[in-house]
Amino acid sequence: MFLNKNHRIALISVDGDPAVEIGQEEAGGQNVYVRQVGLALSKQGWQVDMFTRLSHPGQPQIVQHSANCRTIRLKAGPGQFIGRDSLFKNLPEFVAQFQKFQHSQGYSYPLIHTNYWLSSWVGMELKKQQPLLQVHTYHSLGAVKYRSIENVPEIASQRLAVEKACLETVDCVVATSPQEQKDMQFLVSKKGKIEIIPCGTQIELFGCIERSVARQHLGIAADAKMVLYVGRFDGRKGIETLVRAIAESSLRGQANLQLVIGGGSRPGQSDGIERERIENIVAQLGLKDCTSFPGRLDEAILPYYYAAADVCVVPSHYEPFGLVAIEAMASRTPVVASNVGGLKYTVVPEVTGLLVPPKHESNFASAIDRILTNPTWRDRLGEAGRQRVEADFGWDSVASRLNHLYTNLLNQNRVPSQRQPQIAA
Ligand code: UDP
Repeated sequence: MFLNKNHRIALISVDGDPAVEIGQEEAGGQNVYVRQVGLALSKQGWQVDMFTRLSHPGQPQIVQHSANCRTIRLKAGPGQFIGRDSLFKNLPEFVAQFQKFQHSQGYSYPLIHTNYWLSSWVGMELKKQQPLLQVHTYHSLGAVKYRSIENVPEIASQRLAVEKACLETVDCVVATSPQEQKDMQFLVSKKGKIEIIPCGTQIELFGCIERSVARQHLGIAADAKMVLYVGRFDGRKGIETLVRAIAESSLRGQANLQLVIGGGSRPGQSDGIERERIENIVAQLGLKDCTSFPGRLDEAILPYYYAAADVCVVPSHYEPFGLVAIEAMASRTPVVASNVGGLKYTVVPEVTGLLVPPKHESNFASAIDRILTNPTWRDRLGEAGRQRVEADFGWDSVASRLNHLYTNLLNQNRVPSQRQPQIAA
């Protein structure tokens, strides 16, 4: 091993800031992934710098998370929120600022791990300018996503071309599930080196609260039949399917049926518009009395919601991995999920939960009912979920697998000296 201590890595996530609050527009699984991978790698001896775009006035340029792990915000375009589909034109400035930062520090990164297609472009540009190794995680594939939405954005062709170039040129792509690997090979390109390393969860944060204690804390009745959704308000998350399934549930009309829809939203923004649409459907279906919207759930309260629930539903039309499913499982709460993407890998049907076809509200209704009406089975599913997460989905074990991948790549491809970048902006 030629680099064995305090090796330096840049995690690049232009659009997913690892230091922001999670649960609002465009801040979800990717932000959590980058932050948790960064923190876990730093515990394993890496010097981790996580690069993102400065997206609000007054944001600190550097956020120190731990001694060896920090977020660095680079200026690329105006210091305000820009949706992912409009960010591409700002990427050359991001590359230039990254180079400037390296120059100011007097070193360059031998290894970068890029996240989402926008950052893959940044990485490929950097790779043209200096010797480095690039690992990439897509988080979402245009080739799959565009099949599940009605309005394909203008940027689609650019994105598809960048995703293909990335798979064919970077040193390794990390697929977070076997389905994602298949999608890459069949829909993006047959060329490219892919390794499957899943996403993880904080196993110590979830799973330590009893259902009764959680309910008391949240003011939820001990005999409630509680169905939980956690996540962003976005059409592709399928919240409408869940609401319609509750309307079809055989438990409908029972006073103790409760649907909790957790996640942040801002009026007038796309998540606020989706929340309003969902609230209207809830009202039209006469479900207002049994439905609540607690808003964004922060890390202090989220474990209580998962622990209080009888079942957590992930009704996505498309889900590259789906952190919420493993967070619920870590909390001993069974999951009813769409039979898509990463959910097919994390949720084991009849063992840790149930899988049903996306958008099929009747199937969701009967799967939810099966769990709500059988508490003994619910507990068995919950316990098996916890065991599955402990075995495969802790961040430390994810980081160990990434550590192994990076170290092998560095050993196989000796990158010249870390000092002095070859090109300064
Ligand atoms: N999340 C949160 N609070 C909320 C809503 C979501 O902390 O109010 C977190 C959730 O716990 C999970 C992430 O946001 O860690 C969502 O990740 P997932 O992979 O399920 O979906 P994505 O947002 O990437 O589509």
